Amino acid sequence: MPDDLIIREADRTVAKSAPLVDPFARAISYLRVSVTDRCDFRCVYCMSEDMTFLPKAEILTLEEIERLCGAFVDLGVRKLRLTGGEPLARRNIMSLVRGLGRHLSTGHLDELTLTTNGSQLARYAQELRDAGMRRINVSLDTLDPEKFTAITRWGKLDKVLDGIEAAKAAGLAIKINAVALKDINIDELDGMVAWCGERGFDMTIIEVMPMGDVGEQRTDQYYPLSMVRAQLARRWTLDESDHRTGGPARYVTVRETGARLGFITPMTHNFCESCNRVRLTCTGMLYMCLGQEDAADLRAPLRQSSDDGALRDAIRDAIARKPKGHDFVIDRRRQAISVPRHMSVTGG
Ligand code: SAM
Ligand code: SF4
Repeated sequence: MPDDLIIREADRTVAKSAPLVDPFARAISYLRVSVTDRCDFRCVYCMSEDMTFLPKAEILTLEEIERLCGAFVDLGVRKLRLTGGEPLARRNIMSLVRGLGRHLSTGHLDELTLTTNGSQLARYAQELRDAGMRRINVSLDTLDPEKFTAITRWGKLDKVLDGIEAAKAAGLAIKINAVALKDINIDELDGMVAWCGERGFDMTIIEVMPMGDVGEQRTDQYYPLSMVRAQLARRWTLDESDHRTGGPARYVTVRETGARLGFITPMTHNFCESCNRVRLTCTGMLYMCLGQEDAADLRAPLRQSSDDGALRDAIRDAIARKPKGHDFVIDRRRQAISVPRHMSVTGG
């Protein structure tokens, strides 16, 4: 092994001797990375039609994102999820995926995964698998082509379904994410549970979160998952599951299909006590909580030196500020947006 690699390995060992633990004794082992805030869709619950995106000059290069992720891996992060915006819409994204995949080969990372709208999956599915990805999440709120275009404004259902097929054929396990949208797709969720079951896909249903101004009232979109679950329970036997990911989802197994079904209910339940994750934006801001505004700038220490010491210190300082929980409220009277940042900045 060359000398610089030996030093780097030794450096990793030292860094790992003190893993990231926040003030509430939660070990931080999961990093979500928004590689771009841009997207080829404009989903009605996520973005307004005329979004203003971050200035290109502020966006980290893919090499910088890779280095940042490497610093988190050095500090004990075991799982990375690429998200956005639409991660597969970022030019040259596969060079980052391949670079990060190397941490899987060395055993420093357990999982590299992705959340995507599926529009580019047909093109990238096999390459993702070849780079070491084994599971992906695909967002799909409806199986009706017209509704699909109404929800995403710019998307075509056929293209996404082709992408999902390609991912399945490439051997990627798939989880479908569907946001429950009042008066739009609630009556379809039952059929989607069947569709996922037939194809061997897990599914997660998500409550709308009040993030960013999307030009619509949140109370017009919000539908509580307690009601979705009660509706689904009329047709399906939902067996409680103890599967946990450290995130907001609570899981059941659908007895008739054997598939896992998750419910992400940030508005109705508190899931923060087991939170194991932090989120990095494409400009290098680290958000310690999806539902809070506090963030740490990691771009400055990243660019300050080619040595990762200052960067690691900045990461540790940020983790020391991770709050106990989120601040989401959908208030019928005030109609307030609880978090002004759009989901596409931190990637959900
Ligand atoms: N573009 C990719 C996609 O759609 O999968 C990745 C980024 S997207 C922001 C990540 C997830 O956040 C998607 O499953 C999307 O449905 C969800 N999402 C976006 N805005 C949301 C909101 N306001 N409330 C709840 N979920 C939201
Ligand atoms: Fe794009 Fe995903 Fe947001 Fe839809 S949910 S607009 S696909 S980032």
